[in-house]
Amino acid sequence: MTDAVTDRFLRYVVIDTQSDPKSSTQPSTEKQMNLGRLLVEELLTIGLSDAHIDEHGYVYATIPSNVDKPVPVICFCSHMDTAPDFTGTAVKPKRVQNYRGDDIQLSGDPQQIIRVSENPALLDQIGNDIITTDGMTLLGADDKAGLAEIMTAAQFLVDNPAIKHGTIRLLFTPDEEIGRGADKVDLIKLGARFAYTVDGETAGHIEDETFSADGVEITIQGVAIHPGFAKGKMENAIKVAGAVISRLPKDAAPETTAGREGFVHPTGVTGSMEKAVLSFIVRDFNDDGLAAKEALLENLVKDVMADYPGSSYTFDVKQQYRNMKTILDRHPEIVDNAIEAVRRAGMVPVRGSIRGGTDGSRLSFMGLPCANIFAGGHAFHSPLEWISQQDMEKAVKTLVELAKIWEERS
Ligand SMILES: [Zn+2]
Repeated sequence: MTDAVTDRFLRYVVIDTQSDPKSSTQPSTEKQMNLGRLLVEELLTIGLSDAHIDEHGYVYATIPSNVDKPVPVICFCSHMDTAPDFTGTAVKPKRVQNYRGDDIQLSGDPQQIIRVSENPALLDQIGNDIITTDGMTLLGADDKAGLAEIMTAAQFLVDNPAIKHGTIRLLFTPDEEIGRGADKVDLIKLGARFAYTVDGETAGHIEDETFSADGVEITIQGVAIHPGFAKGKMENAIKVAGAVISRLPKDAAPETTAGREGFVHPTGVTGSMEKAVLSFIVRDFNDDGLAAKEALLENLVKDVMADYPGSSYTFDVKQQYRNMKTILDRHPEIVDNAIEAVRRAGMVPVRGSIRGGTDGSRLSFMGLPCANIFAGGHAFHSPLEWISQQDMEKAVKTLVELAKIWEERS
């Protein structure tokens, strides 16, 4: 088991599976199928005879139940793609054995240093074996660690029939990093009651909360006129937009908030004298907080507009996703069982919230309640990404324990 998870991980990270938000197909990039096909081959080798990949790039497989009593069907899920933020072509994984607690200089680019000061989690890894890149690509531990861990746990369960468990479905998705990982999943075919994405960071962490998220688009209609005759008449929409931006609350921005605080964040601005469009994302952990931030934003716009009597604005709110805790709280056994599994795997469980959305939150609202379990990776989406072999092994243990606990408690 020890070598298997790392071997698998190293095999998967060298396959380029970067997704592409500009593509309209699913999978967004054909190369994701290469990893999908390899996973199917490996699943068949393990003995999961129904393993297959569909035309959208989703991999499905089943570990059949080995008990007579009914146990809820659970699903382990992770994503095959890597983030568009940084290249995933020609990944060269490097191993730091018996880590000593120093900064890690990456061999391909001396500028790239994984610093302990920026990665305090490294101090929990003394004596462990750490895997990094050479600094030229991302690593893709997000989420190939999850794939390797689920695959290794599956093999372990199949090879050890004395371990009792219900039916476990495996699901590997494309295009999670571009927000489309749940788009084409066939929940009927999957047939699972509850699910776990294995896509979190630090060992021991379980996440059952995401942001609630809206997008806001503000369109400002100014008063356009020839600049030579503009005195007392022109209301330049670009300047109105600038006034709105300058009054945004400084204490409710992504760069000034953490933990359970939400924010209002401008993501785009286009404009001419006649018309300007401002795009925002608004985030909070509860719906009232979200509404309050939107009201604050609209009041601020109204305030600015008072100085421009000839101009007008529209304010459009679009729902993006909602905090999955609403759904997960109706099925407390999902998180309770995960907490017990983490404990039995030798860690102190930590419950957390995700400052973002996940496919798990989408799946939860589509009818498959889904919490997120750690995969062990750190510094996602960057060339400084790293993970330890020992944390991947802990994740494998957690998944095996989770399978046992669902059987025991049914
Ligand atoms: Zn991920």
